[in-house]
Amino acid sequence: MKSQQWLDYNWQIKNRLREAEELEKFISLTPSEKKALKSVKKIYPVAVTPYYLSLADPKDPDDPIRKQVVPVPAELDEKIQLRGEEDPFKEEGEIKGLTHRYPDRVLMVVTTFCAVYCRHCMRKRIFSQGEKVWNFEELKAMIDYIKSREEIKEVIISGGDPLTLNNEKLEFILKELRRIKHVEIIRLGTRLLVTAPQRFFDDKLLDILEKYSPIWINTHFNHSKEITELSQKAVERLLRRGIPVNNQAVLLKGINDDPETILKLMRNLLRIKVKPLYLFHCDPVKGVMHFRTTIEKGLEIMDYLRGRISGMGIPTYALDLPGGKGKVPLLPNYCVKNNKSEYVFKSIKGEEVSYPV
Ligand code: SF4
Repeated sequence: MKSQQWLDYNWQIKNRLREAEELEKFISLTPSEKKALKSVKKIYPVAVTPYYLSLADPKDPDDPIRKQVVPVPAELDEKIQLRGEEDPFKEEGEIKGLTHRYPDRVLMVVTTFCAVYCRHCMRKRIFSQGEKVWNFEELKAMIDYIKSREEIKEVIISGGDPLTLNNEKLEFILKELRRIKHVEIIRLGTRLLVTAPQRFFDDKLLDILEKYSPIWINTHFNHSKEITELSQKAVERLLRRGIPVNNQAVLLKGINDDPETILKLMRNLLRIKVKPLYLFHCDPVKGVMHFRTTIEKGLEIMDYLRGRISGMGIPTYALDLPGGKGKVPLLPNYCVKNNKSEYVFKSIKGEEVSYPV
């Protein structure tokens, strides 16, 4: 049985580990990790909740949890990071925090704060600005823009992690958005189900989310080790309030870029009733390049999933095109021939099967 303190979200946030000396009380750092911590944190902040770090094997430098939170020298290696960009998707728009890339959707960044600073984050440029929360005037400017554009049907609230906002500010945003007739869908992108699931044991938060329904939550489990009794209970609490939870994993070299690891993750997500939505190819972001694997590897993994797990457990493997040109789904090619009289498809067992036109 966990102590009351451990189950307290505010305690988890207050006791985030940031320094080598603090991390070392729980995991044994390698000399190169210690060195990297000192230099990396000057550019990209480091923070991890005691809960999330407790999921790591304290002795294994290759542990998938540890690799997501402990910096390594490659993070600042100019040669490795050379082709990465701070903002390859040109998310920064005219209004601070607001990106209007697709006609029917907008992205609202409402804070730079996260419970854990993931080393692979595609918005590293945001959390490297320091910990900021947008004030009411700034939020209002975004909301006024959304109000003025009737084509906007969906609002994605992200960050940083929007569920780290206090309940008052979160309710302000949701209430204002719900007043706008043309906004049909509100999506919240949060990793707290993975990094600090204690947040979802606050009934007031759940009351707010339920009140402004329909609200969808997109979360970010990357490895089965992140699926715990506590995260499962947190998902259960959301589902009971009618809030669906989808997962957007990222394919990360040395963490989950292996067919069995992804298969296990997808199975475990289904088990806790989280729908695997996307498996993203890791973006060409500065400070993240060392986590990128090949598209061939991603396609191999997708091919492996087919036939081993039902369609419900198969995410869309996709990449984001640079310059804000949108997402592209990536699929292994199953159609091996196509002429006027037949198509020929490759079956799960690799046989070529003719299909009439
Ligand atoms: S929680 Fe999400 S936004 Fe925050 S650092 Fe991790 S990936 Fe980035």
